[in-house]
Order: sequence, then structure tokens, then C-alpha cells
Amino acid sequence: MELKANIPSGPIAEKWSKHRFDMKLVNPANKRKYSVIMVGSGLAGGAGAASLAELGYNVKVFCYQDSPRRAHSIAAQGGINAAKNYQNDGDSVWRLFYDTVKGGDFRAREANVFRLAELSVNIIDQCVAQGVPFGREYGGTLANRSFGGALVSRTFYARGQTGQQLLLGAYQALMRQVGTGQVKMFPRREMLELIVVDGRARGIVARDMVSGNLETHLADAVVLATGGYGNVFYLATYAKGCNGTAIWRAYKKGAAFGNPCYTQIHPTCIPVHGDYQSKLTLMSESLRNDGRIWVPKKAGDTRPPHQIPEDERDYYLERKYPTYGNLAPRDISSRAAKQVCDEGRGVGPGGLGVYLDFAESIQRLGAAKIAEKYGNLFEMYERITDEDPYKVPMRIYPATHYTMGGLWVDYNLMSTIPGLLVGGEANFSDHGANRLGASALMQGLADGYFILPYTVGNYLAGTKLEKVSEDHPEAKAALAAVAERVRRLLSMKGKRTVTSFHRELGKIMWEHCGMARNRAGLEQALRKIPALREEFWKNLDLPGSADELNQSLEMAGRVADFLELGELMCLDALEREESCGGHFREEYQTPDGEALRDDERFCHVAAWEYAGEGRKPTRHVEPLSFQDVPLQTRSYK
Ligand SMILES: Cc1cc2nc3c(=O)[nH]c(=O)nc-3n(C[C@H](O)[C@H](O)[C@H](O)COP(=O)(O)OP(=O)(O)OC[C@H]3O[C@@H](n4cnc5c(N)ncnc54)[C@H](O)[C@@H]3O)c2cc1C
Repeated sequence: MELKANIPSGPIAEKWSKHRFDMKLVNPANKRKYSVIMVGSGLAGGAGAASLAELGYNVKVFCYQDSPRRAHSIAAQGGINAAKNYQNDGDSVWRLFYDTVKGGDFRAREANVFRLAELSVNIIDQCVAQGVPFGREYGGTLANRSFGGALVSRTFYARGQTGQQLLLGAYQALMRQVGTGQVKMFPRREMLELIVVDGRARGIVARDMVSGNLETHLADAVVLATGGYGNVFYLATYAKGCNGTAIWRAYKKGAAFGNPCYTQIHPTCIPVHGDYQSKLTLMSESLRNDGRIWVPKKAGDTRPPHQIPEDERDYYLERKYPTYGNLAPRDISSRAAKQVCDEGRGVGPGGLGVYLDFAESIQRLGAAKIAEKYGNLFEMYERITDEDPYKVPMRIYPATHYTMGGLWVDYNLMSTIPGLLVGGEANFSDHGANRLGASALMQGLADGYFILPYTVGNYLAGTKLEKVSEDHPEAKAALAAVAERVRRLLSMKGKRTVTSFHRELGKIMWEHCGMARNRAGLEQALRKIPALREEFWKNLDLPGSADELNQSLEMAGRVADFLELGELMCLDALEREESCGGHFREEYQTPDGEALRDDERFCHVAAWEYAGEGRKPTRHVEPLSFQDVPLQTRSYK
């Protein structure tokens, strides 16, 4: 397999405009002759499908929810970055580019990151034109707040519901195209296989989740915008339905998987509170604008927070990282929280929590101002914990939140299977080893509104495609493979529920491939996961049948894939013998516990190629070079 990044030549600031000029165009009258499948209706998929349809392509959109409006993007809380410099505080495209490359610990492709920063400004204009109700200043201008890893305020937001409002914008653009007939919407459909003909992606097999029917859909190009795979950890801030199946099916058909081990652990989530919990809740990073993070200075101090005097508190982020303070990036803040809890200074049940305290800002700004900015988040916290954060500090702890890894794509968002493009969180993305807050929405919308509409056209204009029918042997084989897999899942009649397998996998992943990793732990995980997978395929108990709405069956298919994907993540983590961003190998750290990169050996993207059942996948490498933001030790001190 050859990894060709296809980065355009020329100075970084001119690459995208030059490339747009160089790309081939499809004549407007010919666009209606082409069809594109878009799997996913979140910010990346919804925006991409609407934009492609607006151009005149025939687009089929698939999602497993009952409405595209329920894609997981709806959950995004805090905001979206853009280098508008409305605050006049020194921001620019170059600064956003710099912050993102540095934030990703120098493990992202420079050219992609620059394009992302460049397009960020267009996204805000697009969304404002759609009517997205961004927060505004008293005078009517758009407001901004700060997010981690930046010293400027560049985050646009709609209270704590930014994702929902952005998704409504994309959704209305999409529904307009449904209305014109240019988009055909397939909700409650789960893509379970990719169809590859003559080495090109030509379609998918999807299951109608209500009737159980298996359907073949064919097209000239397929785009996956199916979100992240962090639910491999079982407990995560993702919606319960998020899964890795679409990208895993594509991986097994030949799409390389980039940096599978890069997972983001978000520092501010509501701590786990019981063995039977099925989900974790995020408290947006935006809260760190006004909340101060602390733990008692003394280990084992069980006094309630208001009884701990100021001089017995350790505002550890402000102490360790005085320049960025509570707005240190996520990987660094998460590790710092783990460190103080490991020292016995954690708070709350089990000592796995730190305080996020608003007392000082409530005193300074008043409770009404705080409610205006974060009201829905405070309410959510109170409903879940039964504690009032206006009166007592929130308790928070890190949790799985995002996956920087995903299908490897070139500059055009093309995977290693021609005709299969990947957008949003599903691709290995522009965030390197750590994503900065408020930049996932930016990337999803950049991919959807501004990149895929060009690169899909470029592919179609430059490719001669034969007509393919449902009778093609590859299409028939894909359909048969899905039917067989569904049959097998339902045939075991074992003793364990799918949730019990998922929970056990999650524990293995969190313990050995979570916030900190080491060789011994990863080797253990690489023994435990195949054993668990073997048991899964012998001892799974699934109720119901294939030809009805069967949520256990849906989950089982996803968990079966997680049981393979989890193994690849551990393998990737094991072979990357360095610490970078969210990937912290305990063997590689500085004397003061910071991540220690090894640029000599690992300044590259690792892209894994499937080698067949039971065989070790092949690790390929895309070298990274840093010309515009020279390699340096990342410091937020
Ligand atoms: C709680 C929370 C808060 C967040 N807050 C922020 C924030 O403030 N700012 C920020 O920048 N980022 C935030 N993020 C991250 C951000 O929300 C996501 O990375 C982003 O929304 C992902 O968008 P997407 O379009 O790639 O995928 P998604 O929105 O996850 O959409 C995936 C789509 O694919 C479909 N799909 C998946 N698999 C299949 C399949 N097999 N068959 C058919 N359809 C399928 C789904 O139905 C869905 O339509 C947050 C994340 C979480 C968990």
C-alpha cells in the first residue's frame, strides 16, 4: 500500500487556492448524471450532502437515527473556533494554524491544518447566513470565548448548545435539498458493508433497522462521515449509538486506518458513579473560562470544599501552567487531574474527582451572568448529581470524548480506496495526537461545506466509471456477507448479554489503553481482547430475530467490530514508543511528568492495513515534516 498524501506544492498559505484552481470540474449539466452516497448526517455529513446536492449531484444520505437532526453532533456544547479576530486580541489564520499544530503535539499534517484555519472564517459566515443563533454582545456583534490551548478568544458559541444550533443549520440546508429531490434521505439505515468494484468504492449494504431488510445501494462515490469510535471504551461522553462499524468495514475492505490509538480524554466530565452506569456526561470546556480547578493540598482531606481554606487548596493547573492556567489543553489537564488523584488528593466518592469551582466568578460577575453563559450546563449538572453548582463546586474527572484516529485520508479526504472519501471525526483528521477544544465542529464543517464539494467533483471528473448493477458479483458478495454475519450473531444462544461484553472490553481499554499506557499493560490487553472476542463469538445471547427492530442485534454488530478495533488501538499504542498528545506512554516522560516525544523515530502518521483474518495488520508510515511551525517541545508553562 502506498500512502500518497497529495499535498499541493507551493507556499502553505497558497496551497488550497492553488489546488482549487488545479482541480478538475464537472460541467453543471453533467453533475446530475453522478450519484454520491453519504453515510452520516452529522455536521460533516449533513453539510457535505447539502453542498453536493446544491451543486447538482444526486445524493443518497444514510443515518441510523430516525432523523438526521439527531446525529451525535447535536451534543456539542461549548463552541466552534474561527480565526476572525473579532476580539482584536492578536488572532489570525496563522495563529490558529500554529495553535492547532502545537496542540496536536506535532503529529498532524501541516498543509491540512493550515487549510482548516483558513476555512474557519468562511464557516462562521456560512452559519450566520443560515441563521445559526451564535451568542452576541450587547451591541449585536458576535461574541467569543476562550478554549484550551489558546491565548486568544476565538470560540463562537450558542450558549452550551453550539452543536445543536449548527446542526439545525446544516439540517435545514439538507432538507431543502430533500425538498428539491436532489437528496434522498434514508434514516434508520445502518451501513454494514462497503462495496468495492475494480478497486473503487461503488456502494454500500445497509440494514433497514425497522424491518430488518438488507439493501444494496450503488453510486459513483461513497463518503463516510460516520463520527468517532470512542465508545470502544464503553463509558464515554458519546451518544450511546456512536460506533466504529462503517469505518471498520471500510478498513477490512482496504482503507488504511490512521493513528487508531489517538484518543482524547476530556478533563471535565461528571465522574463515574456506579458499576451499572452506561454513559458519561461532558461538562463543556468552556466552563474553564470562569471555573477554577483545584484539589486539597493534603492527601486524604475529606472536608467538604467550603471548609477547606484558600491556602490549603492547590489550584494545580494555575500553579503548573501559569501562562495557560485553567485553559491548558485537554491532554495536559486530564493527565494533571489523574496525577493529583493518584497522589490521594482526589475528591468525592473513590477519590476520582477534582473541583471545578465558580465561587470566585459568581462573586465577580454575579450568578445571573454565569447563568447567561452556562445556564443549561449548570442545570444538566444539577439534574445528574443533585448538587447545585451555583452553591458547591462541580466535581469532574477525565473521560473518553473524541478519537483523533480514523481512516487515513490524503489532502483530498480520499482514503486508500479510490472513490471512498472520509470527513469529520471519522477520518484521522487534522488534530494530530490531541484535538484542541472547539475544533471538531470546525473540522467537520470545513470538510462538509468547503472541501468535499470540490474533491468529490475532482475525483468524478477525472475517473472513468463503468456502470455497476446489484447483480455484480462484488455487490452480491457484500450482501451475502452481511446476511451471514447477522445470522451468525443470532445463532449462538449463549449466556452473556452484548452489554456485558462491551463493558468488559471498555474496562480493558480504559485500564490499558486509556489516559496512560505502558508496554506491559498493552501486551496484557492484546492477550485479553482476543480471548474476549473468542468468547463473544461462542457465548453471546441475543434476543429477537433479524427481521424486526432489534436493538440488541444492532449493538452486537457494533461490539463485534469494537472487539477488533480495540485490538488495533492497543497494537498501535504499543508500537508508538513515545508519548505525544493524548497518547501517554509511561515509559516516555520528562522528569516532571510531561509527554516525551521521539521525533527521530515517530514523527509520522501510522496507517494500518488489514492483512486478513487472524493476521497481524501491516503498519505503514506517512512521514510528517514541519516547515512553517518548526518542531519544538510543547510547553504551556
Ligand atoms: C458531549 C460532547 C460535546 C462536544 N462539544 C464539542 C464542542 O463544543 N466543540 C467541538 O468542536 N466539538 C465538540 N465535540 C466533538 C464533536 O461534537 C464531534 O466530533 C462532531 O460533532 C462529529 O461530527 P461528525 O459529523 O463527524 O459525526 P456525528 O455527528 O457523530 O455523525 C455521525 C453520523 O453518521 C451516522 N452513522 C454512523 N455510523 C453509521 C452507519 N454504520 N450507518 C449509517 N449511518 C451511520 C450517524 O447516524 C450520524 O448521522 C463534542 C463531543 C461530545 C461527545
